[in-house]
Amino acid sequence: RRKWKRVMGVLRELEEGCETTVGRLRQVVDAMAVEMHAGLASEGGSKLKMLLTYVDNLPSGNEKGTYYALDLGGTNFRVLRVQLGGGQGSSILDKDVERQAIPQHLMTGSSEDLFDFIASSLQQFVEKEGNGSTPSFVRRELGFTFSFPVKQLSVSSGLLIKWTKGFAIEDVVGKEVGECLQNALIRKGLDMRVAALVNDTVGTLALGHYHDVDTVAAVIIGTGTNACYLERTDAIIKCQGLLTSSGGMVVNMEWGNFWSSHLPRTSYDIDLDANSPNPNDQGFEKMISGMYLGDIVRRVVLRMSQESDIFGPASPRLSMPFILRTPLMAAMHEDDSPELTEVARILKDVLEISDVPLKVRKLIVRICDVVTRRAARLAAAGIVGILKKIGRDGSGGITSGRSRSDIKMRRTVVAIEGGLYTSYTIFREYLHEALTEILGEDIAQHVILKVTEDGSGTGAALLAASHS
Ligand code: ADP
Repeated sequence: RRKWKRVMGVLRELEEGCETTVGRLRQVVDAMAVEMHAGLASEGGSKLKMLLTYVDNLPSGNEKGTYYALDLGGTNFRVLRVQLGGGQGSSILDKDVERQAIPQHLMTGSSEDLFDFIASSLQQFVEKEGNGSTPSFVRRELGFTFSFPVKQLSVSSGLLIKWTKGFAIEDVVGKEVGECLQNALIRKGLDMRVAALVNDTVGTLALGHYHDVDTVAAVIIGTGTNACYLERTDAIIKCQGLLTSSGGMVVNMEWGNFWSSHLPRTSYDIDLDANSPNPNDQGFEKMISGMYLGDIVRRVVLRMSQESDIFGPASPRLSMPFILRTPLMAAMHEDDSPELTEVARILKDVLEISDVPLKVRKLIVRICDVVTRRAARLAAAGIVGILKKIGRDGSGGITSGRSRSDIKMRRTVVAIEGGLYTSYTIFREYLHEALTEILGEDIAQHVILKVTEDGSGTGAALLAASHS
């Protein structure tokens, strides 16, 4: 039938537009490494901000004592206490976490109200502390995970560049965030010191490194995506004369904003970007992260429904942005029932499309596959880009007469977190497959992706320990 042919044309165009051959991925790897260089060379030198963190030594496992952390970065806010055993064991003896939703009115109210709320939560948490975990004469050290773009001034201070994720408290923009919190603690009479102000990726790297000293980078792929890694200070050209005792510093890439003409971009991506509140921003993130994948799929299905009647009468739901959330898209993609009953259910319940034949349900699975495969493979290319920048991709040091397999590769660990990676099995498998394809098996076997849990909070407490 002609109509089916038109739909197949749309699918073929999508597949071609999303193509990620290994050659194309290697171009993305190179572009990532080049942009990292540019972002380190000068302020504004690249779409990659490559923010300094002033974190120059990562937790080693010897940290000892009780430390606290606050984790602010989304709708939930958390308070943590960790007890570290010290010694050689990298042992977290005990961990308490309390989660709280941030009341909506505080997200758009005044700076004092927000920080007073945070300080009160911390105060209540501390008061419930079991006897003896911190003697009263010892000042408590606090790590503050603040997952918004910050221009760091030191490991424990930094200026808020802008709010994201629904927060809009104008009088904090440009202010020193560590000080805002410290002042609120003083107002409450809490004897605690903000010892570290960190991005969530940096917390993840800290926790990864605490458990495994070969950890050199961290990646988060959840609602959004970002990465950080350990760089040599002499490679951070935009900050001349930067000296650290370790000779290194963690750099927060803000890689969601990466862009390259080598990225495989479709008309759906262009439309999604144009209709977003931040056009021309976060281009890499819009092709990769959980916030967007479902909506790319929705846009393809909408286009097919406009080209044909295979989805029955036009459903107004299909025109509603973000109605198809990524976890639902994943559920359709991973539907292994012979009749694709989960696909049918989600089409009906979410998109109000009923009674589509099996052939059309299979088509939906195919669309999810194309979109997710591209996302996972691009994320893999991003990771290899970091490895290339720090000389861990196996490309350097090949001397004549030696084959790649003769080179002694150092074990390289990348800490990874985020719901897309941990909960979406096919995404994870595609990412691993691409990593091996790009690096080759000999090199890839030395690169380990390790899932950390709750690094954003726990890692901040560890950094408070190693910087106090
Ligand atoms: P966040 O990034 O919001 O701090 P997470 O790292 O837990 O928190 O990631 C949550 C995101 O991961 C969700 O917004 C969603 O996009 C994605 N996600 C969660 N579960 C799944 C799933 N089962 N399949 C696909 N994506 C998922």
